[in-house]
Amino acid sequence: MQREKIPKIIIIGAGPGGLALYHALIKNKDKKEFDVKIFERDSSPRERWQGYHIVLNYPGIRSLLNCVPSSINSNLQKAIPNPLPGVEFHGATLFDNKGKLILHPPSIQFKDFNELVKVDDEYSVLIAYRDRLRDVLLESVPVTWGKKCIGYEETKDGVWAMFDDGSQEFCDILVGADGIYSPIRKQRLPELQIFNFGLTNVNLGLHGDSSSLLFRLIPIEQEPGYENKNNSNELHYRLTLNYSYPTKLDDRESVQIKVDDNDSASDIEHVKQMVRNFGSKCEFNDFILEFWDLVPKSAPNDPEKFKFKTYNPTRRRQYQDINPSSIQPWTSSRVTLLGDAVHAMNPVHGLGINNAFQDADLLSQALINYSSEDPISCIQGYEKEMRKRSTVDVLKSRSMALRLSTPVGRIKAIIRNYGFKVINFFINF
Ligand SMILES: Cc1cc2nc3c(=O)[nH]c(=O)nc-3n(C[C@H](O)[C@H](O)[C@H](O)COP(=O)(O)OP(=O)(O)OC[C@H]3O[C@@H](n4cnc5c(N)ncnc54)[C@H](O)[C@@H]3O)c2cc1C
Repeated sequence: MQREKIPKIIIIGAGPGGLALYHALIKNKDKKEFDVKIFERDSSPRERWQGYHIVLNYPGIRSLLNCVPSSINSNLQKAIPNPLPGVEFHGATLFDNKGKLILHPPSIQFKDFNELVKVDDEYSVLIAYRDRLRDVLLESVPVTWGKKCIGYEETKDGVWAMFDDGSQEFCDILVGADGIYSPIRKQRLPELQIFNFGLTNVNLGLHGDSSSLLFRLIPIEQEPGYENKNNSNELHYRLTLNYSYPTKLDDRESVQIKVDDNDSASDIEHVKQMVRNFGSKCEFNDFILEFWDLVPKSAPNDPEKFKFKTYNPTRRRQYQDINPSSIQPWTSSRVTLLGDAVHAMNPVHGLGINNAFQDADLLSQALINYSSEDPISCIQGYEKEMRKRSTVDVLKSRSMALRLSTPVGRIKAIIRNYGFKVINFFINF
């Protein structure tokens, strides 16, 4: 009897979503075997700056652990800074503009991903280094680097993925895990557009690393290669500040400060001006303003120490997202999408990567039911659920970013902060 041909899946994009899907498909091999290939446009894992700290929550971590084999699971700790005992918690805390704590959801200290999934606590999150998490996920994955996908051609029997070097590859299923500017989405769902909802963000990183929202202290001793040159007992910290504001305020502000986004120093001055104009006069803001002055204003130029891009220049960037429910449900085909490619969201809630992991988990489970007679219905089930879940998170992130960044005036701020204090009382009761 002739053995059935092993179906081929091509994943475009070796970001966290594409890599998690790769691991899950290999892990599920005994249930359904696929020939899986993964293509990435960057020429190497070090070609590009790989991001700041990234928030992982319970559903994201649970899905990630479902996707990865035990060899990767045991290495995930490398991507998490250890919390200082009794001092640091993996969770969010809100202060008012005078520096008074107004919301501190109960959170538990975690040392690893496996501990967090056992607790199933919606408030507790983990902060991971995005670059190191990707490095761990890259282990044992045969990525083909330097292959930029520029589109595809779908036929009755399969899909041709096209690359910018003129080559093409045939597969049974094509997965676009190629991020917010996905060429696959542009072709597959041209009406699904990136949305700019009117907020500008400036990320100010010290030592080239940053937390996504407020700021988080990471002792530098934990960094590989750290040298305590002065032999001092003093702790040194990494810190990042993140400032966002309604884009329309720029029209007013630019009258005072001429901002040139190719010159980080002018962006930093611009933010300081914003803090002075819109923040209250208080010790907390004075302290924040002092930090702005410590932000590097240009890329490190020591090629020995900084062999690859560790620095993303400080500049204004627009918050953008993609809401998959902004268009009618689409008819599924052999070409599907996951992660930011289909539902990018701003980082305020830290939900982007978590949705990418949930997609990878869901899609890999759906593909167990793949059959060559009916290759589409498993994709249909995946897309229906992915669309519903991710829409909620895109809209939640947009509304949170707008609420946090829009000046509300004194009276409204008092009411809002009082509301947070009441919530804080009950959730910690
Ligand atoms: C470099 C980077 C840094 C980030 N830093 C942070 C952060 O610090 N904090 C935070 O909250 N969020 C950050 N994000 C966003 C967050 O990481 C994403 O929400 C999350 O990674 C979604 O995962 P993804 O796999 O869907 O997409 P992505 O992480 O965007 O990965 C997509 C991958 O596809 C590749 N690709 C794109 N186009 C093509 C093509 N045409 N052909 C082949 N490959 C292609 C990209 O190079 C990339 O490796 C960052 C994203 C990136 C890309």
